[in-house]
Amino acid sequence: MKLSLFSLTAVVALSVLLTPASISALPAPSNGVVSFNNHRVVRINVRNEAELKALTDNQDSLGFDYFTHEKVIGAHIDIRIPPQSFSKFQALKLDYSTLVENLQTVLDQEKHENDQYQQVYAAADTWFQGYHSYADHQSWLSTQIANNPGKASKISAGKSFQSRDQAGIKIGSGPNHVVFHGTQHAREWISTMVVEYLIDQLLKGTDSRVAGYLQKYTFHIIPIMNPDGFVITQTSDRMHRKNAQSNGGCLGTDTNRNWGFKWNTGGSSSNPCADDYMGPSAFSSPEATNIAAYLRSLPKVVSYIDFHSYSQLWMVPYGYTGTRPGTYTYMNGLAQKAAAALRAVNGVSFTTGDIYNTIYPASGSSTDYAYSIGVTAPFAVELRDTGRYGFSLPAAQILPSGTETWAAFAAILDNIQV
Ligand SMILES: [Zn+2]
Repeated sequence: MKLSLFSLTAVVALSVLLTPASISALPAPSNGVVSFNNHRVVRINVRNEAELKALTDNQDSLGFDYFTHEKVIGAHIDIRIPPQSFSKFQALKLDYSTLVENLQTVLDQEKHENDQYQQVYAAADTWFQGYHSYADHQSWLSTQIANNPGKASKISAGKSFQSRDQAGIKIGSGPNHVVFHGTQHAREWISTMVVEYLIDQLLKGTDSRVAGYLQKYTFHIIPIMNPDGFVITQTSDRMHRKNAQSNGGCLGTDTNRNWGFKWNTGGSSSNPCADDYMGPSAFSSPEATNIAAYLRSLPKVVSYIDFHSYSQLWMVPYGYTGTRPGTYTYMNGLAQKAAAALRAVNGVSFTTGDIYNTIYPASGSSTDYAYSIGVTAPFAVELRDTGRYGFSLPAAQILPSGTETWAAFAAILDNIQV
């Protein structure tokens, strides 16, 4: 669907006054919460090299926020466009369709649903029927640990930049370690909920295989890998992706471009205002550094999963190169089993493959790092959906996302070679 023409004399005049940095940083609203009123989310079909260059050349000056990062010809790229940049975007004459006409209306609906949910929360076990505050996630995790003595214990990978705990839970007693987390990217809220659903299943699910899993594996699970960024998405900027380290006037390092393996070798930005900013040096972010150290501290990590959203992908290394690693067939075989098990639950399709060829080149990512230190089956997962709601996946999809991801996770546990 093509957009109707967007007449914006006043906004065009305003955009002349705005520097690129001030567009990227977004205007500070009076109530301290960034408004996305009239921000559009569009999907661009990149037809040739010139169009790719036009996008790249204008991404900073027009304040594009990349929701997906596949920057190659033939790709579909989703971006958020501030209203003051829209006429200039139209002048680029790209082939695009509109996913969201006004992002703020989607966010208002999300907030409305969450507010409604809060009213019924106290009455029943409705944790997976809504999204939650950072404080509530902390208390939920503490409750799980307190309710399962001898089975679960508290872990922490360390402190975030703003000294929040990268808190988690350890479940099971097996010799083979499995580590996974959600919310490395702050705005990807479904990843927090799905990781917590997997915790819930390991602790009290009805799956008859669980007892075997807890003897074979020890699970180390951190629902919120990037707590500072998560708090930003709940207090000031729902679309924040990065951590909270200030870099030259723009907020945050993309921690998933900051890990210390093949850092700064493509698919990341040196511009502190870019949403895939790699940071000034490898492991400059405490969040990535801490998780890496935690992984290295374990004797035998047979799987690591970094849960993201959105795009419905179950991916394996590498992200930094299109050359497949030696054990690609083993890893992608597990990903294919996961995707098949996932699809069998609710009919949702996930694509598998290596990061570089399946989604986009990305260096300094968690999954590549995990593979580099000997984790035999590391995955980067992009959960629901494919762009209809994007990062604001309706709360009604939390449980179905949880049940299907549990099936995928179990398929991996059933088939992993230890
Ligand atoms: Zn992500």
